[in-house]
Amino acid sequence: MLNAQGRATDTGTRGEGGRATISGHRGLDHEEGLLFEIGRREVTGVDLPDIELTADRLGGLQRKLPIGLPGLTEPEAVRHYVRLSRKNASIDANLYPLGSCTMKHNPRLNEKMARLPGLSDIHPLQPQKTVQGALALLDELAHWLKTLTGMPAVALSPKAGAHGELCGLLAIRAAFQARGEDRRRILVPESAHGTNPATAALCGFTVEDVPGTADGRVDVAAFQERLGSDVAGVMITNPNTCGLFERDLVAIADAVHAAGGYFYCDGANFNAIVGRVRPGDLGIDAMHINLHKTFSTPHGGGGPGAGPVVFSERLAKFAPLPLLIHDDNGFRLIEDMQEAEAAGHAPFGRMCAFHGQMGMFVRALTYMLSHGGDGLRQVADDAVLSANYILASLSDVMSAPFEGPCMHEALFDDTFLKNTGVTTLDIAKALIDEGFHPMTVYFPLVVHGAMLIEPTETESKETLDRFITVMRELASDAKAGRTERFEGAPHFAPRRRLDETGAARKPVLRWRPSDAKDMARVEAAE
Ligand SMILES: *Cc1c(COP(=O)(O)O)cnc(C)c1O
Repeated sequence: MLNAQGRATDTGTRGEGGRATISGHRGLDHEEGLLFEIGRREVTGVDLPDIELTADRLGGLQRKLPIGLPGLTEPEAVRHYVRLSRKNASIDANLYPLGSCTMKHNPRLNEKMARLPGLSDIHPLQPQKTVQGALALLDELAHWLKTLTGMPAVALSPKAGAHGELCGLLAIRAAFQARGEDRRRILVPESAHGTNPATAALCGFTVEDVPGTADGRVDVAAFQERLGSDVAGVMITNPNTCGLFERDLVAIADAVHAAGGYFYCDGANFNAIVGRVRPGDLGIDAMHINLHKTFSTPHGGGGPGAGPVVFSERLAKFAPLPLLIHDDNGFRLIEDMQEAEAAGHAPFGRMCAFHGQMGMFVRALTYMLSHGGDGLRQVADDAVLSANYILASLSDVMSAPFEGPCMHEALFDDTFLKNTGVTTLDIAKALIDEGFHPMTVYFPLVVHGAMLIEPTETESKETLDRFITVMRELASDAKAGRTERFEGAPHFAPRRRLDETGAARKPVLRWRPSDAKDMARVEAAE
């Protein structure tokens, strides 16, 4: 049973075979309470002198009751956070084959560079002449991104892939404003990542689906039928979310350009083609790159990402502020609209207060420089090889909706689970018991019961083989009716099956003293 905080109220629900422990802990895996549950008001880890308030400068607004924050000693605080950190599934601990997310190893060299004081201890409001090295680094990163994509301009400041989409579509909107045209329709394939239609809608466009072909690509004929003089552009992911290369991109680009529209490419899957294909050569006008996917900066858990956007000649001048320039006086950021306009630019505005995620820029450039151009090409080759190894090794026991070879991720559907009573979700939960973070499930939406597996290039063949062995076993158990391991899985995780929809739709964000003991403690303190 779980109470409102999602905490187990019965230790028997946590463990294997319902065996409860006296303490509620399982081995060295501690059941960790909230700070409010384990803290005490009268305890503190710091020793500060009492403050003597001489005059009330709050105009009588100071609080009347004690604030009621829980206190811990320093060792208790350390244990609390260390125990919580151990519950975190991470790429540093395990294979994390989450499709469309490119969960690759983050080299330690990146971290070392990001911590250099000249890069980590600077402030965006510092005089620019004191941060010439950091600006040179931004320029170098921009150079790599432009070279790898074959595009003439880049905006570094967007802070994630979705933020990059917003940046790209705002540039497209600005281009139509400059042309004096009001175009509202954006075409989006039905296999698109949810952020694509969401971004288009946020920018005031109406979104129209483009169906896919039987082999998982954009249906070019259907696309052309929808084109017209009111179409602002198209948003296409390449390689697409089925893990397949969009064969007809040049024809699509030519058609959308002939209709006067722009081609936005979702470049989140750039890992599969980096160093092999230059999106600029395919006729793309704007594309975001997830540095936190392709260029190995850490991601997940809402941490900082970075989603620079590259632009074609047609959109370059609408790129947002700041603009980075290099002249006889060194590097300089143009942050002023009039100055930008005087230099021939027409920025649509800016994406954020400062210049983007500096720490991620340092990591991404470190990754690029340590791999070199040939190393990045090998990244793409190996990522595609790993995914095809998985596709080929599982195709006989699972069901793949589209014929391979695939790009960087292998896609399966749930046809092989038909009449077994086992679902895609059951497979994902059983994988947790086996020590693997699940793959992406039920996405892309165009495939029934989808399982999208992206191993990346940084996993060894041994790890992939262990994963394949487990997946084969799970598939054959399901088909043979040996379903016990799936029922209520995960059995070995700190929590069993949770109400994920409820958690997303009705999150419990506020702690309330729920039992009498907590209540008595707060009341006594007050
Ligand atoms: C990850 C991803 C995004 C969104 O990127 P965020 O950095 O999470 O905002 C968009 N499209 C695709 C195809 C992705 O895989």
